[in-house]
Amino acid sequence: MEKIHILHADMDAFFSAVEQRENPELKGKAVIVGGVNLSNRGVVSTASYEARKFGVHSAMPVAQAKKLCPDGIYLPARHKLYKNASREIFSILKKYTPLVEKLSIDEAFLDVKGCDRLYGSAVEIAKKIKNEVKKETELTISVGVSVNKFLAKLASDYDKPDGLTVIKKNDIKNFMRKLDIDQIWGVGDVFSSKLAEENIYKASDIWPYSLEELKKRYGKAGVKLFFLSRGIDKREVKSQSQIKSISHEETFADNIEDRDRLFAYLFKMSEKVSFRLHSNSLKGSTVFIKVRYSDFSTYSRQNSLKVAVNSSEEIYQRAKELLIQNDLLNKPLRLLGLGVSNLCQEGQEQLNLFAEGEDQLDKTIDQLKRKYGFNKISRARKLYLNNDD
Ligand SMILES: [Mg+2]
Repeated sequence: MEKIHILHADMDAFFSAVEQRENPELKGKAVIVGGVNLSNRGVVSTASYEARKFGVHSAMPVAQAKKLCPDGIYLPARHKLYKNASREIFSILKKYTPLVEKLSIDEAFLDVKGCDRLYGSAVEIAKKIKNEVKKETELTISVGVSVNKFLAKLASDYDKPDGLTVIKKNDIKNFMRKLDIDQIWGVGDVFSSKLAEENIYKASDIWPYSLEELKKRYGKAGVKLFFLSRGIDKREVKSQSQIKSISHEETFADNIEDRDRLFAYLFKMSEKVSFRLHSNSLKGSTVFIKVRYSDFSTYSRQNSLKVAVNSSEEIYQRAKELLIQNDLLNKPLRLLGLGVSNLCQEGQEQLNLFAEGEDQLDKTIDQLKRKYGFNKISRARKLYLNNDD
């Protein structure tokens, strides 16, 4: 039997919980943490479980939250405080295995394969982590344990707050049978309404379809659906030091020559790369691009920067310069890609004070994306693209 060795650890209502810890009078109350200024135009970063009962959730406009929960306590975000708590939590996680993949300030995957002789089984490690986090930080963390990342993440979400859910190999089929289709990683509103047209509402509704059929209908997304609907996920847990570069590329259905469209694609890809850099607290000092023409000839170019970057705007600008300066846009493109390498941990790079504002904007967008899926939120430039792009 396949041993369960993947953990997903996720703090419960993190920012609100930290605020409640700092000020015990807030305990048991509806606490809503928003942007720095907490203007009505801002969005909710975290709502305490008490506030969630009123329907308030993260990424909701503050103005709307105030209508739903007028007596709530609205606090501006204090990121330094949350970062310090996060550092403590990650140092606990890293005690059990070097394979910790940070997803955000309060969430990580762990691979504890081979750690059992030292610390016990994966479930025992999960219990130890929960106890230690509570003891050291007075905060609660939910942990999911299973055979892969996808199932571990579903498990950690299953019994929040302060949950510990284990999905064993033998439980997978039953667990997946009941799962709503939009709970599957990568299935957003657009895709799930497309699937609803075929009467597909549950993960198990996918099971009768063959891999070939799903691939023909939905392309790559269909292949993913085939495997994930059965709880199969081959992605490995990667610690930050194992990541050498982060990139994204797209092959177009028809070759594209129109520069505005290509730049729109470039921006969409730089947002994806930026999102992943931020998620891993990484910055990179080399930006590279790749193009392929209709005759399959392929070129890549790179540029080393004095200051490491991770904002989508900077990555986009550098990539665009590479394309223009090297005169790579004079023929229709079949493929376009960009990426960032020479990575370093955020905070260890040379500081670029001018980039701060842009960073903050990216972080807000990242947060919304994590909540609502990728295609919902983006900046104006992507309007050049159709929904299907
Ligand atoms: Mg969380």
